[in-house]
Amino acid sequence: MTRTSLVLGAGIVGVSCALALQKRGFMVTLIDRREPGSETSYGNAGVVSPTSVVPLNNPSLWKSLPNYLGNQHAAVRYRWGHLLGNPGWVLRFLAEARPSRLAPRVAALQGLTAQALTLHKAWMAEAGISHRLRETGTLKLWRSEAGQQAARTEQQWLEDHGFRADYLDRQALSAVEPDLNPIFSAGLWLRDNGSVDWPQAVVAAYAALFVARGGTIIRAAASGLSRTHQGWRATTDSGSFDADLAVVALGPWSADLLRPLGLSVPLNVERGYHRHYRASDGRSLSRPFYDVESAYFLAPMEKGYRLTSGVELANRDAPSNFAQIDAVLPRAKEAFDLTEATEATTWRGARPTLPDSLPMIGEAPRNPGLWLAFGSQHIGFATGPVTGEILAALICGERPIADPEPFAPARYL
Ligand SMILES: Cc1cc2nc3c(=O)[nH]c(=O)nc-3n(C[C@H](O)[C@H](O)[C@H](O)COP(=O)(O)OP(=O)(O)OC[C@H]3O[C@@H](n4cnc5c(N)ncnc54)[C@H](O)[C@@H]3O)c2cc1C
Repeated sequence: MTRTSLVLGAGIVGVSCALALQKRGFMVTLIDRREPGSETSYGNAGVVSPTSVVPLNNPSLWKSLPNYLGNQHAAVRYRWGHLLGNPGWVLRFLAEARPSRLAPRVAALQGLTAQALTLHKAWMAEAGISHRLRETGTLKLWRSEAGQQAARTEQQWLEDHGFRADYLDRQALSAVEPDLNPIFSAGLWLRDNGSVDWPQAVVAAYAALFVARGGTIIRAAASGLSRTHQGWRATTDSGSFDADLAVVALGPWSADLLRPLGLSVPLNVERGYHRHYRASDGRSLSRPFYDVESAYFLAPMEKGYRLTSGVELANRDAPSNFAQIDAVLPRAKEAFDLTEATEATTWRGARPTLPDSLPMIGEAPRNPGLWLAFGSQHIGFATGPVTGEILAALICGERPIADPEPFAPARYL
C-alpha cells in the first residue's frame, strides 16, 4: 500500500523533503501558508557552499565578543531584551564555542555540505533550471594587510580539510573579478562553491517538479498537529489533512507547532536583511563575494546585486532595524560600483538556529511518525536537498548520504 506523508513548510527544506519522499514512492501533501520559497529561502545570498563547515559559534567567537560589546559591529548586532529573554539559548550557543566542540561539529557540517552542490546540480537539471547555477566559486576578501596572513591561515585550514582555496593577491584578484575596485589586499577563491541567481526561483522550480510528479501543494496556515489512529493530522485554516507521517520543516516557525506536543525545541533566529542594487554601466560580477572585515555578502542576482547583512539577534517578529544593512552599504560601494536600489523595500528574514548550529533531522522522540527537519542556520539553502535526502532515507530505513547522528533530535528533546 502507498504510504502517505504531510510536509509542513515549503521552504527549500520542506520542498526537498517532499521531493525526496516522493522519489521513494510516498504520496506527499506539502502545506504552506505562502507560495513555495517565499520566506527565509527567498532572501538568502544563494551561495551553495561545501566549504561552510565552521559554525559561527566557533572558538574565535569568544575572542570577538569584545568587538561586539558596543553593538555597532556589522557582523553581529543584538537587542538586549532578546538576549535577556533567551538566556538558555544564549548560554548554550556560547558554550558550544568551546574548542572541544569544534572538530565534531566541523565533521558533521562537512558531512552535510559535501553533496550540497552535486545534489542541487542534479535536481536543477531535473527541474530544467540548470542555467540558474553558477559554478564559478565564491570569493572571501580582506582589505587590511593583516588580512593577508588571515587568508593564508584559512587557506591552509581549508586545504587540510580537502577544499580548494586559491590565494589571490591584489593582481590575481583583479584577473578573477576585474570589475571589483582594487581595495582588497588578499582573497581566497573558494572554487568548490557554487551560487544561484534567484534562490526563490529554484525552490519554486523544485516545487513545480514535485507537482508534475503527482505531489499536492495546499496553501494553508497550519495551527496544530495531532496523532491519529493511523498517523498524523495537520489542522489548518483550510481544513485538516491526515497521513501516515508528518514532517515539520517550518524553518524559524518550527518550534511553534511542536510546543503544544510537549516538544520544547531550543530554536532561535539569526535575523538578516537584503537589498538589491544596480551596478554602474558595464560593471558586473561573476560570483558572490564576502567582505570579511565589513561583514556583508554581495551576490549577483537576476534582479540586481543582492547585498545581505550579518546577524541580528532579535525576536523573530520584532520590527526591523535597518542600521546594520545601512552601515555596510557604503563599504559595499567602495568595493563595487553600486548605484541605485532596485526596490523600495528592504527584505528581512530569520535564519533558524539551534545552540550547536547543527540542524535537527530525524524522528521526534516519543512521537513515532513525526519527523523534524529544521535549524539549518546560515547554510540551509545549500543543504536543503541533502537534508531531504537524509530524512527520507531515515524514514525508509536506508543508509543516508551523511551520518545523521549529529543531527538527531534526541540531543535536545
Ligand atoms: C540574509 C541571509 C542570507 C543567507 N544566505 C545563505 C546562503 O547564501 N546560502 C545558504 O545556504 N543559506 C543562506 N541563508 C540561510 C537559508 O536561507 C536558510 O537556512 C533556509 O532558507 C531555511 O530554509 P527553511 O526551509 O528551513 O525555512 P523557510 O524558507 O523559512 O521555510 C519555512 C516555510 O514554513 C512556512 N510556514 C511557517 N509557519 C507556517 C504555518 N503555521 N503554516 C504553514 N506554513 C508555515 C513559511 O511560509 C515558509 O515557507 C541565509 C539566510 C539569511 C537570512
